[in-house]
Amino acid sequence: MAIAPEAIHAIAISVSGVVNCHDIASRGVLGRQVFIEMHLIVNAPDVETAHGITEEVERRLEERFQPVRILIHVEPPAYKSEKISFESR
Ligand SMILES: [Zn+2]
Repeated sequence: MAIAPEAIHAIAISVSGVVNCHDIASRGVLGRQVFIEMHLIVNAPDVETAHGITEEVERRLEERFQPVRILIHVEPPAYKSEKISFESR
C-alpha cells in the first residue's frame, strides 16, 4: 500500500456527486509513481455526469499525489446496499 486508503477516501468523498468510495487500493512509491484503484458510487443521471465526477476525483488525487495513475470503477447508487468498505484489499 502506497497511500493510506483513508486519505484517498477523504479526497474522493469530498467531490460533489460521490456517494461512496470503497475497495481502495494503491501501490508504487509516493513522489515517484503511484497507482490508485477504487470503486466509486456516484449520484449522476447519465454517463457524462458520472464521467465529470470521476474527472474531478482524478484531478484532486493528481494534485495531491502526482505522478499518479488512477483507475476508477464507477457504480450506480443502486449498489448502495452492497457491503461497503474502504479498506485496502
Ligand atoms: Zn464496488
